[in-house]
Amino acid sequence: MSLVFARAGLSGADLQALLDVDLAAEALRDVFPGQTLRFTTDEAHRLVELRFAKSPVETTLFRKEGADFRMLSELKEPEVREAFRHAVVQSSLFEAGIDSGVSHATILELANVFGGVIDFALDPRKGDVFSVLYEERYVDGEKIGEGDIIAAEYINDGRRYSAYRFVDSSGRAGYFSTDGVSMRKAFLRAPLDFTRVTSNFNMRRMHPIARVVRPHRGVDYGAPTGTPVYSSGDGRVLESGFSRSNGNFVFVKHDGNIVTRYLHLHKRLVKKGQRVDQGQTIGTVGATGLATGPHLHYEFLVDGTHRNPRSILDRLPRARSLNGNELASFKARISGIDNQLAQFTKAWELAIASNDDR
Ligand SMILES: [Zn+2]
Repeated sequence: MSLVFARAGLSGADLQALLDVDLAAEALRDVFPGQTLRFTTDEAHRLVELRFAKSPVETTLFRKEGADFRMLSELKEPEVREAFRHAVVQSSLFEAGIDSGVSHATILELANVFGGVIDFALDPRKGDVFSVLYEERYVDGEKIGEGDIIAAEYINDGRRYSAYRFVDSSGRAGYFSTDGVSMRKAFLRAPLDFTRVTSNFNMRRMHPIARVVRPHRGVDYGAPTGTPVYSSGDGRVLESGFSRSNGNFVFVKHDGNIVTRYLHLHKRLVKKGQRVDQGQTIGTVGATGLATGPHLHYEFLVDGTHRNPRSILDRLPRARSLNGNELASFKARISGIDNQLAQFTKAWELAIASNDDR
């Protein structure tokens, strides 16, 4: 800070007067390279005001009052606008999103909303379509970021999934399908950061190292070493260890006598007995044990029997549903949003059609 003051031609006495203000040192510790400090001086080139924009919405300012400075904080209320994007998936959700002008954060949020019904590592097909209506935040006409997704639709391999944000009577926000069923399921479809999955790992029935034929009892996701692996549901760590064939492994026990297993991890990040939440990182993708390359081997057991995680999830107990008055107000809210989505989609498709004509 003394360098900055010297560069602005201000005296050390001014800086000292500023630092005498309660909490000033803490406030100025948040100044990072690239940020702007705005100085106002009098005719004698003595500091009268210093403004420091901590973020587009928050400014800290020091103003001279008599002999001392006073620290003030200015907050701007961002203006919220609605934005709509519509895209056809050519290679991946991520690329389609970026091409249509959706930020990384909103694409991840979109994947999060549909994470209980779509495995974004393995399910997307060329020609899938998504639409998303979301909030953008502006300050002084400038976009500072994106807010919540209001509604979204994803058509996967011809199947349509819709989700709408709704705040229930207890004040909790969540996403619900057209018929008021929560989008948050007991299990995630993809137990890892799908944006880094390279392929649907080639399932080898012949084990290349052990040279024995063994039934393949899980799903393999090819991904670079270090890719975060998530617990697919809430539960407790049953085992976290190492074996010659599994390499580093984590087993998680869930309600309903369900166990999920994560093998060949590079690192294990949880301990036996520890509680884990859905989506919590429990380890990273690796190639430990009998693995030919970095991938996650994921197993899903019900009552001790291996089940295909790709199909079993459709048969598990259903998620929470809205009912009564809540369902009525949800339905009323989404009919307006549906009209809005339909209009936006139509306008979008017309725009694309007229582009193609040229
Ligand atoms: Zn495997």
